[in-house]
Amino acid sequence: MTATTTDFVVIGGGIAGISVAALLSEHASVTVLEAESHTGYHSTGRSAAQYIRNYGNATLRQLNDLAYPTLSGELTGESVLSARGQLLLVLHNECDATINSYLAGASGVEKISATQACDIVPVIKPATFDFAFYESDAADIDVDQLLQGYTRELKQNNGSLVTHSRVDTLARDGDGWRVYCGDNIYSCANVINAAGAWADAVAGMAGVSPVGLTPMRRSAQIFDIEDQSGTFDRWPLFGTLAETWYALPTAGRLMLSPADEDPVEPRDAWPEDEILAGALDRFEQMVDLNPGRPVHSWAGLRTFAPDRSPVVGLDPTANGFYWLAGQGGYGIQTAPATAMLLATQCLDQQLQHNDAESSDRLSAALSPARFR
Ligand SMILES: Cc1cc2nc3c(=O)[nH]c(=O)nc-3n(C[C@H](O)[C@H](O)[C@H](O)COP(=O)(O)OP(=O)(O)OC[C@H]3O[C@@H](n4cnc5c(N)ncnc54)[C@H](O)[C@@H]3O)c2cc1C
Repeated sequence: MTATTTDFVVIGGGIAGISVAALLSEHASVTVLEAESHTGYHSTGRSAAQYIRNYGNATLRQLNDLAYPTLSGELTGESVLSARGQLLLVLHNECDATINSYLAGASGVEKISATQACDIVPVIKPATFDFAFYESDAADIDVDQLLQGYTRELKQNNGSLVTHSRVDTLARDGDGWRVYCGDNIYSCANVINAAGAWADAVAGMAGVSPVGLTPMRRSAQIFDIEDQSGTFDRWPLFGTLAETWYALPTAGRLMLSPADEDPVEPRDAWPEDEILAGALDRFEQMVDLNPGRPVHSWAGLRTFAPDRSPVVGLDPTANGFYWLAGQGGYGIQTAPATAMLLATQCLDQQLQHNDAESSDRLSAALSPARFR
């Protein structure tokens, strides 16, 4: 039995836990506990790795904007983004609500004709959709570089990262917490719950009510492509505005996702053949490209709160218990922003990148208090 004392225990070594741990470690002692053998094993290592400014509801779009300076290297001098673009095809009879919610508050989006869309991705069948939206500043994120950058920062500041450490119990310890991991006990003033799909279960271990998270499976498959056009590697991410499928060309291979959102229990997710086959069918109806058989497939969990905004902040019912969860399909691109918001709250500082009033509004929109 070993006992360790630290200011913060962060539960979960995905991008959420590692990013906030790195920022906190500049000012406090921090230990990250990760159940698996390495960081990023679950959702973080299974994403499509995209930065899309206009993806998600209004709260998420604020986070996307707030995260951009870090991702693009304006703050650190080291960008993790590379140009990609996104082309969204608007189907015949697309409902106005879908179009309006995408356009509300959108920036940098261009409406283009079906012919213009086919100039960008020549294999799309022009008769299968009405028009398209093109978002030129959508970008690929180097997720590994982002995760390793935060890990380096954590270690340089003497923070610890302990893998193979599944938290099994949490108990109140005076004003703080005791966190149990097998034979190891961590005493700390503050716990940060960054356990991804398991965040409600971790709250339960601490006697804190869940916020109502739903892990949703999203799958993807990879195909080898023989490029007839010579332009394949320059195609943007393309798919339907209604999210019935999307495709992403990368180095001679095409990633195709059914854009599925099936609620599942927290687990090591895997794809189902029927769902993958359905995506291929919908893709081939709209795209003149026969990718053949997939060479690889996988699935991961996108975990949503009931209002689909992340849950970031102190739980009003439990001293020293902070949430950093419910990032849905946006957790990589928003990580620098949610980490900064939570770290400033934990350290009781003002957020410098926004005026105080809008920062308060954003914090309220993210706070777990909205479910209490
Ligand atoms: C197919 C797919 C495509 C996606 N595409 C994008 C995209 O293009 N852009 C984007 O921004 N986002 C995307 N996402 C979403 C993004 O991947 C997630 O929002 C993000 O990775 C969530 O990070 P996290 O750290 O919260 O979760 P995770 O990476 O799942 O980390 C949580 C960690 O907590 C650990 N843990 C759980 N319970 C315990 C415990 N009791 N003790 C110790 N450790 C524990 C787990 O082992 C896990 O490693 C996508 C997701 C999927 C599945």
